Amino acid sequence: MPTINKIIRTKRKTIALIVESNGDLIIRAPKRATKREINALVKKHADWIVEKQDEVRKEQEAFTPRQFAEGEEFYFLGKSYALQYTGAKKSTLRLWGEKLQVARSVQEKPERVIEQWYKKEARQIFTERVNFYAEKYGFEYNKLKLSSAKRRWGSCSSIGNINLTWRLVMAPPEIIDYVVVHELCHLREQNHSKAFWAQVGAIMPNYKARRKWLKENGRRFSW
Ligand SMILES: [Zn+2]
Repeated sequence: MPTINKIIRTKRKTIALIVESNGDLIIRAPKRATKREINALVKKHADWIVEKQDEVRKEQEAFTPRQFAEGEEFYFLGKSYALQYTGAKKSTLRLWGEKLQVARSVQEKPERVIEQWYKKEARQIFTERVNFYAEKYGFEYNKLKLSSAKRRWGSCSSIGNINLTWRLVMAPPEIIDYVVVHELCHLREQNHSKAFWAQVGAIMPNYKARRKWLKENGRRFSW
C-alpha cells in the first residue's frame, strides 16, 4: 500500500486522494472518517496512486535543471550513477561502483568534463553498434555523426550519414540498438511507411516495446 504522507481533516463529506507534484500522497478527509476507511480507499486506488506518483516524479526529473551537485543522478547505458567529487589531481572521470567520480580539482567546469566523457563513450559505442548492424544486414552508410539534440535521438541524411545524439548513450543498450536499427533502415526507406517498419521488424522483432520504452522514458536522458 502506498504511504500516506499527510491527512488533512476538513468539513468535506468525502475522502479525496491527492498526489502532489513532489509525489507525496495527501488525504483530505471528513472529520469523522476513520483510519480504516482511509486505508481501504488508498488500498483500492493503490495502482492509480503509484502510477500517478511515478508520472509526477519523472516529470520533475525532466524539468529540474542540472546542478552538477554531489549525489545527483547521471545515466549511462541505462544505469544510474550518483555524482561524486574526488580529490584526484588530474582531470579525470570514472565510473566506480554506483558512482560517477569526477576530480574536484579540475579547472574545467564539471559539466564540460562530463559532457566530453559522454561524447567520447557515445562515439565509441555507437560506432561499434552501427558497424555491427551494418555488416550483419548489409547496410552502407557514409559517416556516423554525433549531435547534441535533446529531443531527436537520431536521423539519417540524404547523403547517407547517420546522426545520433550523444545523449542516447544514457539509455540502455537495447534502446541504443533500436535507434541504430531505426536510422539504418532509413537508408533504404526515407519515411515511416509500412515498408519501413517491416524492415525494422525483420531485424528487431520486438522493436515496438523498445520504441514505447523510449517514448515513455526518453525525457530523463535529455538533461
Ligand atoms: Zn525515423
